[in-house]
Amino acid sequence: MRKLSVSVLKLTSCSGCLNEVLYSLVARAELLRYLNISYFTELQDSNAIEDVDVAIVEGSIVNSEQEELVKQVREKSRVLIALGTCAVFGGVQSLRAGEDLRTVVLASYPNPDHIKVLPEVKSVDSVVNVDYRFSGCPANGEALARFLVKLVMGGSESPIVESLCSECKRKGILCVTVFDGKPCLGPITLSGCGALCPSFRRGCYGCYGLNALIVDREKLEEFSKVVERLGMSREDFMAMLKAFSYSSLTKSSSSR
Ligand code: SF4
Ligand code: SF4
Ligand code: SF4
Repeated sequence: MRKLSVSVLKLTSCSGCLNEVLYSLVARAELLRYLNISYFTELQDSNAIEDVDVAIVEGSIVNSEQEELVKQVREKSRVLIALGTCAVFGGVQSLRAGEDLRTVVLASYPNPDHIKVLPEVKSVDSVVNVDYRFSGCPANGEALARFLVKLVMGGSESPIVESLCSECKRKGILCVTVFDGKPCLGPITLSGCGALCPSFRRGCYGCYGLNALIVDREKLEEFSKVVERLGMSREDFMAMLKAFSYSSLTKSSSSR
């Protein structure tokens, strides 16, 4: 079997998704034998972005250098994967959207003149074409490792788009809304985490991002009233959407 050449790139992010990838790869020594990792931010010293079979990109795009870098990576990769909610939706960096940029920068850095960021936070697919998306904050490293195994074997992935409630049902988890009266964003959130929060009797806060295929603007508005009746303030609801689904929200509003 031919080795798969891979580069792994970090943009603006917390590295949580890359750590998940590392844990999964370390646990799969047999997979590592079939990967030729030419570039891995934070893991090996190399500045060269080479032609690869697969490029995995973590993080959102907040400056023009990152925009250029992502374009270069796209040109040099056969398959490009956006890893994590930052890369897929913009992520927690998007909480600054709509705020005065200078105020935000001043609140974070002592010398704001050294900070050059775009006025907006961009997901990877708002700049280049993305072949596969693994959302989640952090993303599920095991799911990515399983996907890499398929690519090594010459296969591909058929994404399943469903909401988190489906995972709850398959696992037989009692619904925290129905049984405990707690607000839960599961009905509007993409599946993939294995219903982690409900399995600990907590409501989902939407870190895998909005399932925009089934939730349009009207449904979102109706849903916000449901969670409000269950005790979640509109402010908290909107902050969660902004933090984990930003690019999806802006796409659906700009397409109307
Ligand atoms: S998606 Fe979450 S865990 Fe992953 S890099 Fe972004 S903030 Fe970190
Ligand atoms: S706990 Fe949340 S995700 Fe699970 S079934 Fe209920 S609403 Fe859906
Ligand atoms: S249940 Fe929701 S908030 Fe919790 S890990 Fe899964 S998607 Fe994220």
